[in-house]
Amino acid sequence: MKKIYLDYAASSPVDKKVLREMMPYLKKEFGNPSSVHYFGQRARAGIEKARQIVAKFLNCTPLEVVFTSGATEANNLAIRGMVQSLKQKIHIVTSQIEHESVLSPCQELERQGLAEVTYVPVDSEGVVKTEEVQKAIKENTALVSIMYANSEIGTIQPIAEIGALLKDRKILFHVDAVQAAQFLDCDVKKLGVDLLTLSSHKIYGPKGAGVLYIKEGVVLNPLLLGGGQEQGFRSGTENVASIVGMGRAVEEISPYGGSPAGRQIVQNIKIRQLRDKLIKEVLRRIEGTQLSGSKQKRLPNNVHIRFQGIAGSELATVLDQKGIAVSTGSACSEKTQEPSHVLLALGVSEDDAMSSVRLTLGKDTTLQEVEKAITILVATVAQLRKNRV
Ligand code: PLP
Repeated sequence: MKKIYLDYAASSPVDKKVLREMMPYLKKEFGNPSSVHYFGQRARAGIEKARQIVAKFLNCTPLEVVFTSGATEANNLAIRGMVQSLKQKIHIVTSQIEHESVLSPCQELERQGLAEVTYVPVDSEGVVKTEEVQKAIKENTALVSIMYANSEIGTIQPIAEIGALLKDRKILFHVDAVQAAQFLDCDVKKLGVDLLTLSSHKIYGPKGAGVLYIKEGVVLNPLLLGGGQEQGFRSGTENVASIVGMGRAVEEISPYGGSPAGRQIVQNIKIRQLRDKLIKEVLRRIEGTQLSGSKQKRLPNNVHIRFQGIAGSELATVLDQKGIAVSTGSACSEKTQEPSHVLLALGVSEDDAMSSVRLTLGKDTTLQEVEKAITILVATVAQLRKNRV
């Protein structure tokens, strides 16, 4: 049975071009990039090329790009690094629907008495209103952290508007752009952000690489101390092959360079059309279904549906047995078996939150796959509902 993968928001396969670019760095270009000899400098050149590509993508300078092990580390570095660099207790504004790698550091800083945190609410579609951020700001607010697009329900946030609100204030603006990067403009100047997070494995790059953009002049305490790599922000010998792969992956999603002009746009339109078909057919053919999140302000690849009277985890398990890979929420929180904090923040009841499934499409998703997934979904929901009566 050919499996159908509809969980691209959890992770994506490594693109062929990315793998090709990485291979030499797993073989002959094995030097330590901090070494001054030929081998080391070859590895260094690979990293610096990747840094240039990411800098161009973000419209910043290469020195402002710091490679990390992934987005979790980048988010921790942004938040904990910022707070630990200050001498006094500060106030942070974030939202109720952030990823765990933002929420957990915030909660830990609260427990340690180092920060006070306001978790701004969202509307019923999962949108963070700029007015809510404005209302939450206090005299000692030093950081605002809002994700660009939500990993569970795909809602896109008004980042440029919040950036404009924070302009000329002494408040750093951090944006987790992990899910948005391949679909939305990540020009840090246009967005008005000081810190921005990317993850390689969500954009057809390898696991084990991420980026934190750190605007020139921003002071952060490193989480890891040692050899002082990555401008001192992230000690430890660099994961050269993954960083090189991430550079190539970013080039592919850039509106210039690696991709022929417009290819990325065409690809995103195709994904959006398949997404719309999936949403429309599921809502039309299965009774008691509801779309979570916004219809308009939504990532082109995200479908998140509540199936009344069905446990999302059971539906995901049976779909998996039938060859369709979906998730019940974000991959990282799937194990908890608790209602998603994102859905609860939208005002969804606990029962409804537990009856949700997320399907996320990718560049390799085909119309045939979507049609097959719809047919199997319709049959599976009917079967599960029948078993209950
Ligand atoms: N932020 C968001 C919005 C995510 O979706 C994820 C992963 O699901 C992360 C951060 C963590 O990314 P990584 O796996 O690179 O640590």
